Amino acid sequence: MKLNTICVQGGYTPGNGEPRQIPIIQSTTFKYATGEDMGKLFDLEASGYFYTRLQNPTNDHVAAKIAELEGGTAGMLTSSGQAANFFALFNICNSGDHIVSSSSIYGGTFNLIDVTMRKMGIEATFVAPDCTEEELAAAFRPNTKAVFGETIANPALTVLDIEKFAKAAHAHGVPLIVDNTFATPVNCRPIQWGADIVTHSTTKYMDGHGACVGGAIVDSGNFDWMAHAEKFPGLCTPDESYHGITYAEKFGKAGAFITKCTAQLMRDFGCIQSPQHAFILNLGLESLHVRMARHCENGQAVAEFLQNHPKVGWVTYPGLPGDKYHELAKKYLPSGSCGVVSFGVKGGRKAAETFMSHLKLAAIETHVADARTCCLHPASTTHRQMNDEQLVAAGVSPDLVRLSCGLEDKEDLIADLSQALDQV
Ligand SMILES: *Cc1c(COP(=O)(O)O)cnc(C)c1O
Repeated sequence: MKLNTICVQGGYTPGNGEPRQIPIIQSTTFKYATGEDMGKLFDLEASGYFYTRLQNPTNDHVAAKIAELEGGTAGMLTSSGQAANFFALFNICNSGDHIVSSSSIYGGTFNLIDVTMRKMGIEATFVAPDCTEEELAAAFRPNTKAVFGETIANPALTVLDIEKFAKAAHAHGVPLIVDNTFATPVNCRPIQWGADIVTHSTTKYMDGHGACVGGAIVDSGNFDWMAHAEKFPGLCTPDESYHGITYAEKFGKAGAFITKCTAQLMRDFGCIQSPQHAFILNLGLESLHVRMARHCENGQAVAEFLQNHPKVGWVTYPGLPGDKYHELAKKYLPSGSCGVVSFGVKGGRKAAETFMSHLKLAAIETHVADARTCCLHPASTTHRQMNDEQLVAAGVSPDLVRLSCGLEDKEDLIADLSQALDQV
């Protein structure tokens, strides 16, 4: 099926007389005839549901749709994008291991890797997304277990050279994990370019209505864990907490990663998405392909307007010819990038604040990528834990305004920006 069709109908095919819409299975638990039947589930001998902290049918239908959209073999939903990135990394990294990450990533993920995962004994080296192949290779250590990057970085809007990062990861026997939140599978499918694991904050375009926080993890099924068994003991040696099964043997390349992530990390951390949220997320997915085109159309029109405005110092948008990432965008994002535009108002931090306070349609919010246009000053909010050096490495200058173009009429958006710029 084409992507547009998967958005609408993927992940769930009702049988005769069954609900047309994905049912919300509002139940914490599931009934079995015998203890033996249920025991098989606990031993991962049979697949099925027993407790919604680990798995729920509503979530699994929606996860299957997202996996299909990304061209993966298995998927799972998490309670947030943060949980998705944490699980994707922690599923293969233990204390004493090391991660190579692009420095141009979402502030929350930077904090997760640079502060919280360090406390857990997992080291990280950050590399500039534009580094040479030699610089990238030099970041690896014998204990490196994963490479991480974002297709389109939030908020710097750098476009990841996925093939370059995948090649380096594979040369060192580790998978590439790509956070595809901003592009969505409508505009880029990282697995086609060599990514092994794809993550999402479904809170953004996938939900698309600012209605529920959520995340997703998709496995390409391409990474051969057993070929690098010494690096990934969690997947390639027996799990004593499940009677000695070895995930990579029992579930193969297609299923090992997501099965382990569900069986261990969901069991122990419980960052499950509620079935209600999964249902709402699916409503968003049903129109994702239609909405992304409009977000991109508005983003492009607004970026072009800002670029020609005398009070605007600079504009970053991968769709602008001349943008630093325009060539990479043409390769990886041929049908559009996203609705988010970053720019600087001449006059720096103060001018940016004055401009923002006069906006009428665009609301000041810690959010991006939903139907309503909003804007944010990252240096004083989402990225405030970073020092100036780290801000520059993350591609976030102190005057940066992040504008997320919604689904309104582009002429109204431009009129709003124009009147607010007049006040500066
Ligand atoms: C928002 C975001 C996250 C975090 O997701 P939450 O759903 O807010 O936990 C991770 N990565 C990117 C690229 C994001 O934009």
